[in-house]
Parts: sequence; structure tokens; C-alpha cells
Amino acid sequence: MTDIPKFIEKQKPLREFNSWQVGGSAEFFCAPETLEEIRSAWAWAQNEGISVWILSGGSNILVPDETLPGLTMRLHNFSGIEKIEEPNEAAVGLIRIHARAGTPKSEVAKIFLKHRLAPAVFLTGIPGDMGAGVVMNAGIGEARTPREFCEIVSQVEVLRPDLSLVYLDAKELRWEYRHSSGWQPGIITKVVVEWSAAPDAMVTNAVREQTRKRVATQPLELPNCGSVFVNPHGHKAAQLIESCGLKGYRVGGACVSKKHANFIVNDQNASAADIWQIIEHVRSRVSSETGVQLETEIVKLGDHPL
Ligand SMILES: Cc1cc2nc3c(=O)[nH]c(=O)nc-3n(C[C@H](O)[C@H](O)[C@H](O)COP(=O)(O)OP(=O)(O)OC[C@H]3O[C@@H](n4cnc5c(N)ncnc54)[C@H](O)[C@@H]3O)c2cc1C
Repeated sequence: MTDIPKFIEKQKPLREFNSWQVGGSAEFFCAPETLEEIRSAWAWAQNEGISVWILSGGSNILVPDETLPGLTMRLHNFSGIEKIEEPNEAAVGLIRIHARAGTPKSEVAKIFLKHRLAPAVFLTGIPGDMGAGVVMNAGIGEARTPREFCEIVSQVEVLRPDLSLVYLDAKELRWEYRHSSGWQPGIITKVVVEWSAAPDAMVTNAVREQTRKRVATQPLELPNCGSVFVNPHGHKAAQLIESCGLKGYRVGGACVSKKHANFIVNDQNASAADIWQIIEHVRSRVSSETGVQLETEIVKLGDHPL
């Protein structure tokens, strides 16, 4: 093994980097703050022939209990707004925000809110970072405009495996419900979002209402990962799970939330295995009782190598 770059750690516990607060350690771990660190970490892993796994805010991933072999790269520290183009500059009539991949969505929401622009509403309350917002095509269920990342992204910057940067227009990506493709292979390093700069006086109240609704309906007081399953076409996953009497269903230290049936909460020092067993049980009960197959929205860290 060649010399390990100084900013790469060995056997790093991942519990504090995921919102379920479960899982074991990464064999190798880094939290790069610059593009050069991302490049040199990836080059090192390629040289060693080991897998690279990406996480950012950790609010949509299940971290395995066993040590995850390879290099886990946490992009959350590669953050910051690089540029805001206001309408009177080149962005005629638009506001355009250039954010590094690890920038929390809430930072971008604040800029839209300051200008009283509609994207603030759906971005408010979705945890995690901008790069993953693109990966997941994150959004809300309510009928609003905009309500998903695909409506506000204009460009993404991607670091390819040969460590070159490419710039892709949003229309070159394929956007689906809670998923995007067309940018792979690589790591999303920057996201440019834009919206018409015409202020809407209702935005501030809508943001408040969005926050109020989340606090009232989601078990935010306990470690969770948001909605575990995507809504199957024509159904609400939460309603299907509740109709099977699964609210409160428990394995070890985790259970289906009594407040929101599509959430699994870690209320008693759960393991990732507890959570996965609940997912399998819920899937099987919903399938046998309703005939609907549930697909997970959350992803397992270690399932999608770069
Ligand atoms: C309380 C709560 C409420 C939530 N509400 C919503 C909601 O309303 N709508 C919604 O859509 N989601 C919601 N989520 C889920 C989650 O917040 C989103 O999916 C979010 O976009 C994930 O961002 P993250 O930075 O935490 O991603 P992570 O969980 O760290 O990563 C998610 C996936 O993206 C990949 N990835 C991350 N960054 C990059 C990158 N830069 N380049 C390449 N791959 C990358 C990872 O490998 C992983 O596969 C909620 C979660 C919680 C805990």
C-alpha cells in the first residue's frame, strides 16, 4: 500500500455522519474540503484498487454494521456558495446560485427566501446537501411549483474517474421520481440552480407553513432517514403501511414511527440490521396484504460504487 494521504483516516466510525445514527466504521475515510483533496483521495483509491463510497449529509443512507471496506468520502465539508448571479448581471431576469456539492440545501433555501422566491418553499426542511439533492431529485409531494430539484437545476459539474471535470446541462440528465441519471460515472462537485427573480409575497408564509407541517407530521425528535419507501404510482407508502397495522412495528432498537408510518426511527440504540429487518418485513406484509411492491427511497452505503 502506498503512503496514505494525510487527510485520510483509518477505521473511522460512521455513526455520527448519518441521520439514523447507526452503522460501523469505514476502513478508510476522508472529508475533503477542496477539489484537490477529492482528486487526490480518489487517485489514491484508484491506485490501491479499492472501492470509493460517497456520502454527503447522510440523511438518505443506511450505513452497514460491519466495517465498510474501501474509502468512504464524505462531501459535506466541500461546501460553500461560489457565486450568486443577480438579474442585473448576465442572468437576465433570473437569479442563479452556484453551490459546491456539500452545501446544505438550507443555505440555498435562505438565499431564495431572502429574495422571496418560490424554491425556498420546497427546499425548506429537506435535509442534506445540494449534490445529493441532484442524485435523489429531492422534492416534496405537495402540488407546488417548483417542488423537485429537476425544476431548479441548470447545470452540474462532475468529476470523472479520470479526474477531469465536465459540465452538464440539466436537460442532459434523466430525471425521475427521487432519482437522476445521465451524470454518472463520477462525483457531482457543483450544482447551479436558477429561478425567475420575480418576488412572490406569499413565499415567507409558505415557508413557515412548510416547517410547521413537517414538525407536526414527522418524528423529527428521533434519529430517522425521512421517508423510507418511495410512493408507488397511485398510492401513498405511509397509508399502505398504516393500513397493514405496522405503525409501531419493532425490531431491536428501531420501530416504524407511530407519528408517520413511512418513517423508521432509531429510538433504542438500533443497529442497521434492525432497520433492514423492519424494511424487509414491511415490504413483505404490504405486498401480501395489498399487492403493492414497495421500493426503498433510502440507499445502502456500499451498494453503489463509483
Ligand atoms: C427528516 C427528513 C426529512 C426528509 N424529507 C425529504 C423530503 O421531503 N424530500 C426528499 O426528497 N428527501 C427527503 N429526505 C431524504 C434526504 O434528506 C434527501 O434525499 C437528501 O437529498 C439527501 O441528501 P444527503 O446529502 O443527506 O445525501 P446522502 O444520504 O449523504 O447520500 C444520498 C445518495 O447520494 C449519493 N451522493 C451524495 N452526494 C453525492 C455527490 N456529490 N455525487 C455523487 N453522489 C452523491 C450517495 O452516494 C448516496 O447514494 C428527508 C430526510 C430526513 C432525515
